[in-house]
Amino acid sequence: MNRKLRAGILGATGTVGQRFIQLLEEHPQFEVTALAASDRSAGKTYAEACGWRLPGEMPEGVKRIMVQPPAPPLDCDFVFSSLPGDVANDAEESFARAGFPTITNSSSHRMDADVPLLIPEVNHEHLALIDAQRAGRGYDRGFIVTNPNCSTIVIAMALAPLHASFGIESCVATTMQAISGAGYPGVASLDINDNVLPYIGGEEEKIESETLKILGRVNGGAISGAEMQVSAQCNRVNVTDGHMASMRVKLSRPASLDEVRAALATFTSLPQELKLHSAPLKPIIVRAEADRPQPRLDRDAGNGMSVTVGRIGRDNVLDYRFVALGHNTIRGAAGAAILNAELLLARKYLGK
Ligand code: NAP
Repeated sequence: MNRKLRAGILGATGTVGQRFIQLLEEHPQFEVTALAASDRSAGKTYAEACGWRLPGEMPEGVKRIMVQPPAPPLDCDFVFSSLPGDVANDAEESFARAGFPTITNSSSHRMDADVPLLIPEVNHEHLALIDAQRAGRGYDRGFIVTNPNCSTIVIAMALAPLHASFGIESCVATTMQAISGAGYPGVASLDINDNVLPYIGGEEEKIESETLKILGRVNGGAISGAEMQVSAQCNRVNVTDGHMASMRVKLSRPASLDEVRAALATFTSLPQELKLHSAPLKPIIVRAEADRPQPRLDRDAGNGMSVTVGRIGRDNVLDYRFVALGHNTIRGAAGAAILNAELLLARKYLGK
């Protein structure tokens, strides 16, 4: 009988860490056996350390697990990481070096030349970097695989079918990002109530650089970035969950509105073919209504793993415009990392 692989979670008490625990509660291939967080939490049980802030009860199975510092070894086969960027850099390298596959949604290693910045539906062939990473860094069983920033993943998923079918010369994206994207306690209520904040530190740069790597091609042991221009402006809005992006694109080859709509609506890829547990039936859901997508109505589409695209139309400045939306702590964070782990298992990078 196949036993479940044992997962550790670094940053387990945070906004994304709690999502990991919720999404892994009934997972058929993974079980949570180790938890780590800051020295504020280490040495306490998870129930003592964590103020549970998701709907429903904290899963029974994690309540009595003792929270540890984020340093190897932990009692698990691999780790998910949702540590703050500054802590993640060294901690994730130590885990990989100690033989733990490290599947992270922190930003520290996303742009490392030998680290896959993975969206299984978009660039599963980037897994080829793992061999170069292991050889170059002297890792044995361990490696680091990252998922993109929570807005970038929504934008890149919407661009991927258009890039594959018609090529993209340029993209301009304006985001409206949920409060939970800032972690807990995040943005002060007096700053965000009745307000929009037109600045999220580092976010525009992440979208502009990560998108090119995600849509790039494997070339030897590295990625050649996609040749397109990406410009992003980011806003924090008074929404709990769900990042939205108004996007405009200039295509490399002419395409009709029907062709653009069809490319988005029919998009499907390897995770759907392999029927990975967390893969949504439809990675992109196209809505025809004039007033969709909306965060409250569409963020949970495909169990939070689908990106919803609407308002597709011609643009007077570039070629086409549309609005894309995805759940930032599911498709944008914990769900993305879990889907990455499922693909890694299917491709035999995880497990015996
Ligand atoms: P959060 O709610 O602030 O949680 C941070 C977690 O890291 C907590 O478990 C915290 O433990 C732990 N931590 C903080 N300082 C630490 C230290 N010095 N040493 C060890 N552990 C420490 O943040 P979050 O929103 O979950 O984000 C976590 C990471 O995921 C960040 O890198 C973020 O950029 C990334 N991310 C977040 C989202 C999102 O939508 N929120 C999306 C994509 C990526 P204590 O409880 O003990 O303090």
